[in-house]
Amino acid sequence: MLSELRGLNEECGVFGIWGHDNAAQMAYYGLHALQHRGQEAAGICTVHDDHLLVEKGEGLVNDVFHGDRLNKLPGRSAIGHVRYTTEGGRGIENVQPLVFRSTTGSLAIAHNGNVTNASDLKRHLERQGSIFQSTSDTEVLAHLIKKNISYPQNERLKKALAQLQGAFAFVLLTEDALYVAQDPNGMRPLSLGCIGGETWVVASETSAFDLIGAETVRSVEPGELVIIDDKGIRSDRFAPKANRAICSMEYIYFSRPDSDIDGINIHMARKRLGKRLAQEVRIEADVVTGVPDSSISAAIGFAEESGIPYEMGLIKNRYVGRTFIQPSQELRERGVKMKLSPVRQVVEGKRVVMVDDSIVRGTTSRRIVKMLRDAGAKEVHVAISAPPLIAPCFYGVDISTDSDLIATGRTPEEICELIGADSLQFLSAEGLVEAVGRNDEDPNRGHCLGCFTGNYPTNIFADTKLPHEKERV
Ligand code: SF4
Repeated sequence: MLSELRGLNEECGVFGIWGHDNAAQMAYYGLHALQHRGQEAAGICTVHDDHLLVEKGEGLVNDVFHGDRLNKLPGRSAIGHVRYTTEGGRGIENVQPLVFRSTTGSLAIAHNGNVTNASDLKRHLERQGSIFQSTSDTEVLAHLIKKNISYPQNERLKKALAQLQGAFAFVLLTEDALYVAQDPNGMRPLSLGCIGGETWVVASETSAFDLIGAETVRSVEPGELVIIDDKGIRSDRFAPKANRAICSMEYIYFSRPDSDIDGINIHMARKRLGKRLAQEVRIEADVVTGVPDSSISAAIGFAEESGIPYEMGLIKNRYVGRTFIQPSQELRERGVKMKLSPVRQVVEGKRVVMVDDSIVRGTTSRRIVKMLRDAGAKEVHVAISAPPLIAPCFYGVDISTDSDLIATGRTPEEICELIGADSLQFLSAEGLVEAVGRNDEDPNRGHCLGCFTGNYPTNIFADTKLPHEKERV
């Protein structure tokens, strides 16, 4: 996945566990499996002797939890977080889980997504005397929870969550319970799992369960509040279920191929996207290749359907870190070359179909097309296993503004010329929905297609901030 080169990033991954002797270690492994969702910061919070303990820092999970840092986190319950940070959002105060201590009980929160009415709520709370330390949605939720102090904890949480709009998956830890909440449209993935019938786990992706030996139980439902404590697990609601609108980018690009969302495996869904693309377009070529890693499954599907052989025409160098990617043009070019190499023996003299899952600014696509030509490809046909990205995401994915997106206001032919390809094809929005296989006519199985269509499943307010704008405030 070349997300850091494309400006297309998932905001975060969350994990929670209740009732395990090595809760922090399990959270560590869980976060490892979610590392692709955020590489810039990681944190774990546990409960021990009625106290919340937290260790967090900037960097990969391995970098943050080195030495005996995990040993400082005893306890049988934990929540964890990995975070991608846009420019301006760095600093330890922004690293989650955030812990809020008070005489009425402490609370740790980790969050994935973006609350679209956060500015409005924040203004309202400030008028009532709340003082904010950060611009994060997480802090807004904490203030809302603390406001309704006279209610029992569950009711306070429900009242607070019911005021939020947008896309959110929260895990909250108190001295007594683990709470898990999903927005009314269920936009971000969030699954429940179990180890040995007694230990409950929750994670942004089911790949985290495989690593810790947990069985997937089900997805957290839209508008649901799951409460897990020593008495077991209970389901409550803070909002009626709205039409489901899972982020379709999870299937196309973000989630790991070995994860399932609502029982649909990501690798298989991507293969179907590639197959469907091959049904929708006609390309005369000798070889199909995919841009590693996230496009490989779609490329295999495209090859199977078209009958054009799949070959590994591009290799990813796995040992190049993000730190090598510098903002200057020359170093960006070098950065792509360090991350990807063409296999000359595969592409030389061939008409190549390069399957990719998205074009954001177009700069990376242009570089890869050139790389394949420099390696001797006779023709390079770009086939995208998704519709053109034309609009920003307000739900926590760093697809920033229309002007950054090469497809906004341009035809495929114009984009093709800009990236220097012989042809450029996109999958249709109908093809996307049908190939993923969620059955969009079922209100429980719908997708968000906002960045492809400009039609969003929730209210977008005049002051709704995109993630990068929020962090610069
Ligand atoms: Fe996902 Fe796009 Fe919807 Fe954002 S706008 S949630 S990236 S489908």
